[in-house]
Amino acid sequence: MQVQYKPRRNWLQTLLQTEIAQGLALTLRHMFRKPVTQQYPDEKPVVAAGFRGRHALVRDAESGGSRCVACMRCARVCPSHCIRIRSHRSVDGSRKVDAYVIDALRCIYCGYCAEVCPVNAIVLTEIYAYAGRTRQEFVFDEAHLLRNWDEFAAEKGSLEGYVNPLSRPRNALQRFLPAPKRKEHVSAEWSGEEQWVGQHWQAGKLRNETAHGIANMWESAAPGLAKAPADTAE
Ligand code: SF4
Ligand code: SF4
Repeated sequence: MQVQYKPRRNWLQTLLQTEIAQGLALTLRHMFRKPVTQQYPDEKPVVAAGFRGRHALVRDAESGGSRCVACMRCARVCPSHCIRIRSHRSVDGSRKVDAYVIDALRCIYCGYCAEVCPVNAIVLTEIYAYAGRTRQEFVFDEAHLLRNWDEFAAEKGSLEGYVNPLSRPRNALQRFLPAPKRKEHVSAEWSGEEQWVGQHWQAGKLRNETAHGIANMWESAAPGLAKAPADTAE
């Protein structure tokens, strides 16, 4: 670590106390600038895409309940062991959820549960402001988690076309996603060619650039014959 010492003042600076004038000038400059302070809670900050907030179980429009099929993947993958699920097999062989509980105070908001869920049942919403007086208030049961989803829907206005970043990672190819996670109309923000993430970002970028380069080369050599760049998102 390099320690930066303040330069020594010369006798004139000491005599005139120029630092006081500099300090006052700085204060004066800031008095006429637009304040950057956000008036929370009247002004809510816009959370970044991929924000992992309060848990919710997506309310299924048809059944009115949760979409969970009790596959137990979320409970198995959860590194904090804060998801408990009890289920039974119904006569038709399908699994039915008896109880679904998340202890939010143990959660580390890693998002693994939302990522592994094959039916998009569990999500981490963009709700970050929630408080309680007792520990029990943060133990979300199924009804509570469904209410969380309703509150999130009410806050967003509409969840039509909403893409949960954890349920559908950016630039994930449709064919690699389980059927319930596929969406027909994913905005360019989520399916754009440049949306490569993680360690594949550089490789993806290079692939796109190469594909564009080849397409341009074809276009200049034989207009109309150029193929579209590599299939990066569907
Ligand atoms: S976000 Fe991570 S820690 Fe929290 S419930 Fe999901 S898997 Fe567990
Ligand atoms: S991964 Fe999804 S479907 Fe499976 S138990 Fe968890 S919430 Fe239910």
